Amino acid sequence: EVSSIELTQYFLDRIEAGKRWNAFLDVNAHLSLEQASKADLLISSGQSGPLTGIPVAHKDVFVTRGWKSTAASKMLEGYLSPFDATVVANLGMPSEDNPRGAGMVCLGKTNMDEFAMGSSNENSAYGPVPNPWNAECVSGGSSGGSAAAVAAGLAPITTGSDTGGSIRQPAAFCGLTGIKPSYGRVSRYGMIAYASSLDQAGPMGKTAEDCAMLLTAMSSHDPRDSTSLADSGEDYGRYLQQAWKAGNTNVAKPLEGLRIGLPKEFFAEGLAEEVANSVNTAAKALEALGATLVDVSLPKTRLSIPVYYVLAPAEASSNLSRFDGVRYGHRAAEYRDLSDMYKKSRTEGFGEEVKRRIMIGSYVLCHGYYDAYYLQAQKIRRIIAADFQAAFNQCDVILGPVAPDVAWRFGEKSKDPVQMYLEDIYTLSTNLAGLPAMSVPCGFNKNNLPIGMQLIGNYFAEARLLQVAHQYQ
Ligand code: GLN
Repeated sequence: EVSSIELTQYFLDRIEAGKRWNAFLDVNAHLSLEQASKADLLISSGQSGPLTGIPVAHKDVFVTRGWKSTAASKMLEGYLSPFDATVVANLGMPSEDNPRGAGMVCLGKTNMDEFAMGSSNENSAYGPVPNPWNAECVSGGSSGGSAAAVAAGLAPITTGSDTGGSIRQPAAFCGLTGIKPSYGRVSRYGMIAYASSLDQAGPMGKTAEDCAMLLTAMSSHDPRDSTSLADSGEDYGRYLQQAWKAGNTNVAKPLEGLRIGLPKEFFAEGLAEEVANSVNTAAKALEALGATLVDVSLPKTRLSIPVYYVLAPAEASSNLSRFDGVRYGHRAAEYRDLSDMYKKSRTEGFGEEVKRRIMIGSYVLCHGYYDAYYLQAQKIRRIIAADFQAAFNQCDVILGPVAPDVAWRFGEKSKDPVQMYLEDIYTLSTNLAGLPAMSVPCGFNKNNLPIGMQLIGNYFAEARLLQVAHQYQ
């Protein structure tokens, strides 16, 4: 049996030897080992839970006491938070103030696209994260560091955040399992805000089983997040070993009774053939396990891109107004007056993509354009959510690709932002609707790059999604 200290030291050594992945923005070996020794004490005194002493790395979007919290922005360079995000506390060391802490050891903070804006991790102010399967390709984004850390064996499991695909897409690009829960399942307190009505945290790991364990410990009702759901007290792993229908004892067909919907818009033009083939093969495998495949339609899929890229920047422009150089974060060295100080601090602190989104957001919210863009987008958002409900009248779970293609090469899409936005087509609509969705590895392309399939469930169906993924795995 290994101690938490030994396990933690092993991963710290892996991180040190794996610097070329640029997956970590901050490590603090001393603090990690201190937590590990506390965890060992809990274990030896019989006070441990299933995750006590297991190391975890957090996306740098979660503020963390003792580690720098920057959201991969120059704006927050060197920033030390005085408190832990709820996710960090829920997973961290238990104490009198934090009785439900799972006792996991923090390994450090993982690289990401600046303020979680991006799909390739190329927007990090601290450099990109190569894909461990092929270092010439991107790891995906925005949780590229969290994905690469697990794929390269630098961490056993990590946290991520998903506003429009940032858990699922990097998980797919790096051959991992990841789940974005229903909106409100995991507290957003201390998660540096991008687009608050879409932001949701979740786990990234090797298997559905790992994700279920982490999600169970991560989620809680939090009075400090007004959109936080009531605590369901659920064990998200409770169905993993069970058949879909209670009482089904046919071990060869555990998924009997499960209806899987294949939205025709998810298999239309623009989807790489290798990805389509791989997802279709997975559908056949699920069918062999007893599931029934049905055709469904999500007619507004195409519109999820313009809708998301109006609403997310609108919310971002408001959320990021707090970074003004006054209370915390970067402040320009020289300025004439207050407005010059704001202008220079923000010009120097924010990267190009972040500035682009702030400008788009300010534009669509301004008087005269609000009705034409923001309001219109909100209306279509409602229709997108209703379309999902119509589909769920015909099926229990929706299956499709996570992304139109596998990981692309560095620079391939970074010159044209619209090109990059189009890559999000299959992931955005679930955030707009607030539904849970997960990424499950389902094969490789001819160049040995991982392919992911996406499972989408109705509200609060996380445990069922994890069950389907586990039966497949
Ligand atoms: N790629 C999308 C964006 O750039 C989604 C990012 C995310 O989920 N945080 O906004």
